[in-house]
Formats: sequence, C-alpha cells, structure tokens
Amino acid sequence: ALTTGIVGLPNVGKSTLFNAITRAGAESANYPFCTIDPNVGVVDVRDERMDKLAAMVNPQRIVPTSFQFTDIAGLVKGASKGEGLGNQFLSHIREVDAIIHVVRCFEDENIVHVSGQVNPLEDMETINLELVLSDLETVERRLDRIARQKKSGDKDAAIEHTILEKLQVALAEGKPARSVELVEDERKRINSLNLLTLKRMLYAANVAEDDVADVDDVNPHVEALKKQALTEGAEVVTISAQLEAEIAELEGEERELFLEELGLESSGLDRLVAAAYRLLGLATYFTAGEKEVRAWTIRQGMRAPQAAGVIHSDFERGFIRAEVVSFEDLMAAGSMPGAREKGHLRSEGKEYVVHDGDVVHFRFNV
Ligand code: GDP
Repeated sequence: ALTTGIVGLPNVGKSTLFNAITRAGAESANYPFCTIDPNVGVVDVRDERMDKLAAMVNPQRIVPTSFQFTDIAGLVKGASKGEGLGNQFLSHIREVDAIIHVVRCFEDENIVHVSGQVNPLEDMETINLELVLSDLETVERRLDRIARQKKSGDKDAAIEHTILEKLQVALAEGKPARSVELVEDERKRINSLNLLTLKRMLYAANVAEDDVADVDDVNPHVEALKKQALTEGAEVVTISAQLEAEIAELEGEERELFLEELGLESSGLDRLVAAAYRLLGLATYFTAGEKEVRAWTIRQGMRAPQAAGVIHSDFERGFIRAEVVSFEDLMAAGSMPGAREKGHLRSEGKEYVVHDGDVVHFRFNV
C-alpha cells in the first residue's frame, strides 16, 4: 500500500496528529501490519458516495477503503550530518511515497519551540534543508561511483552523470530535486536513488483549536506558510492536531454536530487524506452488491485488470470484462437495472482506464 510519512520538527504536534490517526483507526481488522508496526496508522477514507450507494443497494456491510500514514519522528536540525539517529530517520523517509510536513502555527508559551519562537518559514526551511543536504550527499556519492564507468565509455553512466550534475547544482543551491525538470526517462534512471526531495510533499499547518474555522483571518503564521508553499507549488492543509484527537473519538451524528459547531465541513484528518490522495494521484472505485458495498483505491490511469487486481490477484489474472457505470449515472438512474435500461451500464475490456467513482462488476475466470 502507498504510504505518506509525517515529518516535522520536535514539538510541532506530530505525535498528537498521529495519535488522532490511530484513534480514528480503520474499522477493519484487515490491516494487521498496523498493530505490528506502532509507527503505522491506517484510517478509513470517508466518502459520501458510499452512503448513497449503500442506501440504494442495502448491503449487509459497507467497507470503506483505507489510507496509511507513517510516523517519522526525530527529524532535527543537523540530521543529514548525523551518522546515527538523524540518518536513520532520513532512511525511513526514503521508504514513503509522499511526505506530510507538519508545521507549528499555534502559539503556546508552555510548549517550547526548538528555535525559541513560532516561525513557520524558518521551520519549513530547516526541515527542507535537511532533506536537500541528504539528497546532495546521495547524489555526490553516486557521481563519484559512476565517474569511472563514465570514463571507460559507459553510455548509460554518461547519461546518468549529466542528470546527476543537474540535480547537484539545484541541491547545492538549497533547492529540492523536484524543482529540476526531468523527463520520464531521466526520472527512471535516477529512481533507485530514492531522493527525498523528489517525493511529493504537502504541508499541514497545525493551528490552535480556536483558529481552525476561520484561520485565514486570525493566524499570520498560516498566511506566511501558505505564501511560501505557493512558490513551491505545494498544498497546505490547516489542521488542529489537538482537536482532531477529539473528533476522532466521535462517530455518526455526534460527529456531524461537533463539526458543525466548530464551523467545519469535514475533519482535518479527512481533508489531509483527500489532499494526500490528490498528491499521490489516487482514485476510488466501488463494488456494490447485496453482500457489501466497498471502496477500492487505485492509481489514476490504472486499467481494468490492474484495478481488479487490487481486490485479488486472481481477478487480474483471470480478467474477462468489467461492467461499469459511473456513480453519477447510477444515481440518476436510481438502480442498477435502471442504469442498464438507460444504456449506462457499459461492458469494458482490458484497455479500459478505470475512473474515480466508477461502480464496477468484474467478470473473470478462476
Ligand atoms: P511532536 O514532537 O511534533 O510529536 O509534538 P507533540 O505532538 O508531542 O506536541 C508537542 C506538544 O504540543 C504537546 O504537549 C501537545 O499537546 C501540544 N500541542 C500539539 N498540538 C497543539 C495545538 O494545536 N495547540 C496547543 N496549544 N498545543 C498543541
């Protein structure tokens, strides 16, 4: 499964947020790994469309899809230089697919800030610089290693060398690797380096409980963060980690009421999951039967057999066809037979690219 790592300086609210995540925890016992690894938290992906599907189909159960977070604590200034712990944390970041960078935007004189005062821009820079320095080291080490091959006339080594030099220039200027324009082939050639600053990243602005509803009017830290993020092309999600822990305890109507009281449409966690979904280019499709209505996560652009493979590898291997109707068409028709009558139920083959919101029934050989 894809995972996003939560990073940030000490005392910005990472653990608080991660606790909210584990408390919100996915219902299903299908995720045994999260009880094995205390640093992994899995949450249900809330999707209103599921409720509407369930109202139509009346299934025995509803199974949402899930999203995985990894807590990567311990990133501090100087981590990239540290032989020990610092480097270890950086290696954990190497394993995630995207990064959520928590930035402290709440004032609280009782909670020490590592650099003495709340300063989101400085915090962003500190963490980003550690990642950049780590990548610079990786790139330079690789450059050293392939220098000889290049000299002896190895063509691939020469191509890689050129790419690495481009990256080296940017990184040495303190810029992330993702700021360097690379074509698909170039990207593939350096993929195995797993550069940290090539990973997609979004910022989570951790604000005080009171700020969360109309944060733009009241919190200058968030404003500064957003401005900076814009120049990086990065998204910002405003969240109150402390509040999330409370929201995570609630379900159903109670939850709705609480959010309404706070002036929020959805919890920060839900918005964070949605943003991570966008960041990672993910989409959801549904299966809907009397037994269960269920959501499945795919990467955008996946074809029908691969999407079937998310359910079970047998589905992918034995794929014959997919019967597909879009969520909107199904709702408009009111029922599956209704959608069929209107000609909205399509029979699609191997080349079909599954869309977000598709309701799918796979036909396959076992
Ligand atoms: P971490 O070191 O980044 O994991 O930070 P923690 O989650 O441990 O939070 C550090 C301290 O800040 C704890 O005492 C939290 O209760 C507190 N804290 C976290 N979020 C907020 C917040 O939104 N407002 C306030 N006032 N305190 C917070």
